[in-house]
Amino acid sequence: SQIMSRGLPKQKPIEGVKQVIVVASGKGGVGKSTTAVNLALALAANDLSKAVGLLDVDVYGPSVPKMMNLKGNPELSQSNLMRPLLNYGIACMSMGFLVEETAPLVWRGLMVMSAIEKLLRQVDWGQLDYLVVDMPPGTGDVQLSVSQNIPISGAVIVSTPQDIALMDAHKGAEMFRKVHVPVLGLVQNMSVFQCPKCKHKTHIFGADGARRLARTLDLDILGDIPLHLNIREASDTGQPIVISQPESDEAKAYLRIATEV
Ligand code: ADP
Repeated sequence: SQIMSRGLPKQKPIEGVKQVIVVASGKGGVGKSTTAVNLALALAANDLSKAVGLLDVDVYGPSVPKMMNLKGNPELSQSNLMRPLLNYGIACMSMGFLVEETAPLVWRGLMVMSAIEKLLRQVDWGQLDYLVVDMPPGTGDVQLSVSQNIPISGAVIVSTPQDIALMDAHKGAEMFRKVHVPVLGLVQNMSVFQCPKCKHKTHIFGADGARRLARTLDLDILGDIPLHLNIREASDTGQPIVISQPESDEAKAYLRIATEV
């Protein structure tokens, strides 16, 4: 791509941020943002002494404002950096704070790249133990640019057990390996749906595809999140499950993932 041919930019840490964990997926709609949001909340819930931030660089489809029940324009600090918006104890920054929700995100190339540059370099995070980054789906210029610009402690890859999603997750894992970002493991999402009435279990997208891929790539499965109405409703109402129903099995699945990263 263009970025590759310009040569590798030099990696520079984000000021004040100790560890960056990116959450990625091959395909859209597999639960990447839901995982990123709940992982950030779970990291904070598991260790109250840790400061956690959430950076949404899914520039074409930012989900963090809605899922974290945040909107508005970030204020500028004295040094002209954007101040993250705060909810549930998590400092958040998203493309969605910078553009109207209904504005068509028809930017291409340089405009997206300058947005990424802003999100990576012009935010005043203060001191963070973890910054969870919600990547765009796929393996394009944004993913590459983020991976090359900042040191990343590890990548979490989210996939459903469906073949088409797994193929793209495979490509994602390969990309991170090429740019020397350690892949922490896979999260298998939506593998099982249990009927709330009769308790029958259905594997809507397949049973254990992500487990097979994990074996192929010699990666760990960090968690297995069921397809559950509560997860979807909690996200849509801006009260992620880890915050709104921390005692539920679904929340516990995310809390367990946070102990693995
Ligand atoms: P992505 O970031 O991969 O595009 P999202 O996290 O936005 O995916 O999830 C897509 C949709 O699926 C959202 O409406 C979300 O609430 C829902 N969703 C994600 N994971 C689950 C799950 N385990 N159970 C139920 N709904 C889910």
